Amino acid sequence: MVEPYGGRLVDRQVSETERQRRQSERRDLPTVVPFTDQLCDAEKIGIGAYSPLEGFMDSATVASVVSTGRLPNGLPWSIPILFPVPTDPALKGVGVGDTVGLLDPAGPLLGLLHVEERFPLDRAAIARATYGTDDPKHPNVADLLQGSDAAWAGKVDLVGRLPTLGGRAEWTPSESRAEFTRRGWKQVAAYQCRNPPHTAHEYIQRLTLEREDIDGLFIHPVVGRLKKGDYRPEVIMEAYDALVQNYYPKDRVALSPLTITMRYGGPKAALFLAIVRRNYGCGSYIVGRDQAGVGKYYDPYACHRIFDEFDIGVQPLRYDESFFCHRCGWMASRKTCSHPESDHGATSQTRIREALASGTPLPSDILRPEVAAILGRPGGELTN
Ligand SMILES: [Zn+2]
Repeated sequence: MVEPYGGRLVDRQVSETERQRRQSERRDLPTVVPFTDQLCDAEKIGIGAYSPLEGFMDSATVASVVSTGRLPNGLPWSIPILFPVPTDPALKGVGVGDTVGLLDPAGPLLGLLHVEERFPLDRAAIARATYGTDDPKHPNVADLLQGSDAAWAGKVDLVGRLPTLGGRAEWTPSESRAEFTRRGWKQVAAYQCRNPPHTAHEYIQRLTLEREDIDGLFIHPVVGRLKKGDYRPEVIMEAYDALVQNYYPKDRVALSPLTITMRYGGPKAALFLAIVRRNYGCGSYIVGRDQAGVGKYYDPYACHRIFDEFDIGVQPLRYDESFFCHRCGWMASRKTCSHPESDHGATSQTRIREALASGTPLPSDILRPEVAAILGRPGGELTN
């Protein structure tokens, strides 16, 4: 199986004794409920999903990532992992050398941030370097611009875990690696997604499962902070359960959620998401058309090309856009079908969303009936 990024899986989870001590001493600490994005990032740092990072980035690391696309040690890294200083007046006196307790909104202590540096953030420059734009209409740029103009850097100790999704465990990288080993998988392909599956998704999953060099497929939906109109995380997971259980061989596909905030950074986000999956044990990574894109900010195939520019030790499995061709009578792509676009049925999320929004029947040609039954339940499955 592929080694963790940087050679070693970071583990900043404290022992059970230490956890109990920290929980009982939390009243002595300055505490904050951070923005969901930072809470998710803190947990991922702690479990090693962002190896080799052991904490939130310092100014030198951010400068290096922004200007070269690499960590100071030369490893490619495309997305700054930042902890903007919270505006909470109770934290006014907190500075370098202090430890801050990070609380999840439900109350428990999730982790500790050991503040090693406070530095100014050039938010517009970071936005341009990461997302290719400083347009405040871009969702992640908007978050960045609305946040603080200063950040804290420092190592994180993980004291708890975020609440599970309807009782569904979220694997840590060491748990997914153990599971892959148990199944005898060496070369695992990761599948990134943030929507319930339709036939175009299924098609590239099947193409991947047909490959001789792939032992198993890890479907790893990103279900972090929601935007208006996103599917509820429980629905995405349930829809994938329906596909996996009803159609795929049990010993070839694994499924677990990943609670991080989606970075719609096009190519840079695709590279980051692949690095994260390498830590989970995936040496191959599926990249479809316009992965991690939003609006018209990115060339739809820039997310393919970035893997030639930066070697992260992960094999990119690059796929063209696929569609159902009525003449071929199959799923196809421009590589396998000669017919004009008028013969192609759109397999788009937009068709599904429009049907859900207007209460009309879901498009049965692009959804498995088991998946359609979950999406079509009364009450609507999109957030508002
Ligand atoms: Zn065709």
